[in-house]
Amino acid sequence: MEDVQALVIGAGPAGLMAAEMLADAGARVLVCEGKPSVGRKFLMAGKSGLNLTKQDSPEVFRAAYGEAEPKLAPMLAEFGPRDVCEWAETLGQELFTGSSGRVFPVAMKASPLLRAWIARLSGKGVQFRTRWRWQGWQGHATVFGTPDGERKCEAGVTVLALGGASWARLGSDGQWAQILAREGVPLRPFQPANAGLCVNWSPVMARHFGAPIKGVALSAGTLNSRGEFVISERGLEGGGIYAVCRAIREGAPLRVDLRPDWPIAKVAERVARPRGRQSIGNHLRKALRLDPPQMALLMEFAQPLPNTPEEIAASVKALTVRCAGLRPLDEAISTAGGVAWDGVDAGLTLHARPDVHVAGEMLDWEAPTGGYLLTACMATGRWAGRAAAGRL
Ligand SMILES: Cc1cc2nc3c(=O)[nH]c(=O)nc-3n(C[C@H](O)[C@H](O)[C@H](O)COP(=O)(O)OP(=O)(O)OC[C@H]3O[C@@H](n4cnc5c(N)ncnc54)[C@H](O)[C@@H]3O)c2cc1C
Repeated sequence: MEDVQALVIGAGPAGLMAAEMLADAGARVLVCEGKPSVGRKFLMAGKSGLNLTKQDSPEVFRAAYGEAEPKLAPMLAEFGPRDVCEWAETLGQELFTGSSGRVFPVAMKASPLLRAWIARLSGKGVQFRTRWRWQGWQGHATVFGTPDGERKCEAGVTVLALGGASWARLGSDGQWAQILAREGVPLRPFQPANAGLCVNWSPVMARHFGAPIKGVALSAGTLNSRGEFVISERGLEGGGIYAVCRAIREGAPLRVDLRPDWPIAKVAERVARPRGRQSIGNHLRKALRLDPPQMALLMEFAQPLPNTPEEIAASVKALTVRCAGLRPLDEAISTAGGVAWDGVDAGLTLHARPDVHVAGEMLDWEAPTGGYLLTACMATGRWAGRAAAGRL
């Protein structure tokens, strides 16, 4: 049995931020991570460009969190987009803001930032144990499975930052939910957020696998997106789809406007132009200036084509995508569900275990991609770490 002043379990961005707050408050901090190294999902997030945050007005930024916005608002007020940028700069990261307001390190990847962060935390006395997998509690003792067998700690305060339930191979496998359920913590079921769509393509679509779809608008329920996406063998993937994924998950159909900047009357007028000896496909492609992947989507989902130019124009402006649901949870960029807000107090302390705080993606919130995920993970990690330090 080891005595630990402050224990942080899970070394993703939420856990590391909690550890930093505790260390800054003078606590002796031990960070335990189940995987052989820290921050694996954070590193993966950097593979396609680490989108740290987004430069929006505070109201617009907060609105991205939907129903969880009132809960997250105080945490984001303390650590919002500007704070994320300042924090990254203190770790030696030069940043740039893309045209959409998304903020990235110039290096694009996460490894230089993570390396600098771990070095800074180590300099503050934070200790790390990897391959220490949390298994729950026995009375006051926190129990870990380690390569040397079972190990126990007795901690003054604990912050759990165990992540969501996707990309299990990177560590966040959601197994913690069973442990917390046994402790009486209220949980919401995990669901895919920012996930791709399954589509059962007809064989002719194979030649378009990998093709990007640009310049279109998507809508599902009340959600809209002008983002891009890709036709893949399994369906549709990419930021444009992720932005409307929640409404699709809740049963709304996905509609694509293939000519979002043209009014429907203009589309109908173009369709009505004489086509001579051209096939209808060629005529539509040229008249509507659709590229081959856009045209393929139209033919895939609008066949048999309606008769009148007006009806064809209606399909072009609101093409209903026949999808077979979302891709599986493990493939999702993030997960909805997790620890319910009524299971924690204002300091993110578990009602069921008042010496334990929770932070990051394991809490029940979701947001689109665009830097909102990392910002809220770090904001909640910071909040939980400070609340835990306050208890000490
Ligand atoms: C491909 C991809 C790209 C992404 N890109 C972006 C992006 O550009 N911008 C953005 O904002 N977000 C992005 N995200 C999302 C972002 O990476 C996550 O939301 C964020 O990492 C969650 O942080 P966290 O600290 O809550 O959890 P995690 O980063 O998942 O960390 C949780 C840690 O807990 C550990 N753990 C779990 N269970 C146990 C246990 N029982 N014992 C010990 N340790 C345990 C895990 O091994 C893990 O290291 C991306 C995600 C993916 C998959």
